[in-house]
Amino acid sequence: MFLMTLLLSDVEFCVPTGKTVALVLQGLRWLLQGHDVQVVSTLYTSRAASRMIAGQLGMALSADPTPPPTPGSIALHHYDFHNREADVQQAVTDLVARVKDGQLHVLLDEALFAGSDVYGQRNTTLVGRLAESVPGLHLWAAGVYHTDIPPSLRPEPLTVPLRCAPSVLREVQTAVDRLTAGIHNYSDSGVPAPGDGLRVIRLSHHGNAHTGRWPAECRQCGKEVAAELRRLGVGSGGNSLPNSPAPLSYSDVFILTQSSELQDDIEDDAGRVTSRASGVVRGLRDEGLPVCVLGEQDWRHNRARWERDVDDVAVAATDRVTVTRYDWLQGLERRVVVMLPGRDKEVDEGLSDEEIDLYDRLSAASRCTTQLIMVDVPPVTTAPSTAT
Ligand SMILES: [Zn+2]
Repeated sequence: MFLMTLLLSDVEFCVPTGKTVALVLQGLRWLLQGHDVQVVSTLYTSRAASRMIAGQLGMALSADPTPPPTPGSIALHHYDFHNREADVQQAVTDLVARVKDGQLHVLLDEALFAGSDVYGQRNTTLVGRLAESVPGLHLWAAGVYHTDIPPSLRPEPLTVPLRCAPSVLREVQTAVDRLTAGIHNYSDSGVPAPGDGLRVIRLSHHGNAHTGRWPAECRQCGKEVAAELRRLGVGSGGNSLPNSPAPLSYSDVFILTQSSELQDDIEDDAGRVTSRASGVVRGLRDEGLPVCVLGEQDWRHNRARWERDVDDVAVAATDRVTVTRYDWLQGLERRVVVMLPGRDKEVDEGLSDEEIDLYDRLSAASRCTTQLIMVDVPPVTTAPSTAT
């Protein structure tokens, strides 16, 4: 059996080592050799990354000054392994149908193989069945814990951060140091960074005008974030970032949180608003920023719009600031990232504020290539009991 599989074993939580770039470069190599490339997303959280990979492959192929006479084609496949077990066999069937001359070329980004998780088990099953069914399987996966790797894959850690500034890396490093299980530490690139990067901007969800436990609920935080983005020059046709001459567009900005309170206006079938957008969204709009919101309730109530928006954000088609739960756009980075601490009411129950902060750093701060803005939240203080 000829089985050439390589897994770029990187970290979960998208620490920015450039692993998606590695997948794109490998996919382009296959296309130029005339092979068809299957870009596979096995969960909605990797939909954006997969869409971005397919888009970049298409652009790179069309920009090649000396294209081969018969380059391969690109196909994008979306599944939901978490909620639909039958999708695993469907994916095997779909992909085996794409075998050409005995070979199959697959890119799988942001895939989890953890054995304790049903979604991870199904990813492992997919890889195993493909390896059994297709002797000429070429599969590259990235964005996984370096534990729980399927036996048919060869790990290749990629630990050199390719793009983000030392000032941002220090914020992420705090979390990498503390959450070591399943995560490779960074290594030295051997290439000196052009500078320390920009000072991290710190805002505070604190004071009379601020409302709610977390910034996602707070209109004032939305206004202050908008003011800071304006000060940086976002949307003005220029920018105030030193050593970064390209103008800052709205689409260069991610506002990331894990708060389940984040949502846009929710409307019923008649178009009436039944639940208003969360405070931070209203604050941003008060200041005139065009905003795309990908929140929990948006996903539940208007899946079609949510999928359209994710596809749009993946290729930055519309010039808008994106406010989103960070796990829904895994693998995507932006020049400016605003990190809003917050909790998912179900998943984060039982985590301390310090643990929330560490996961925020891994999942949100790590997505920033140039200017990081962090919103600090004062700890909740419990009033001393007066009971005697
Ligand atoms: Zn606030």
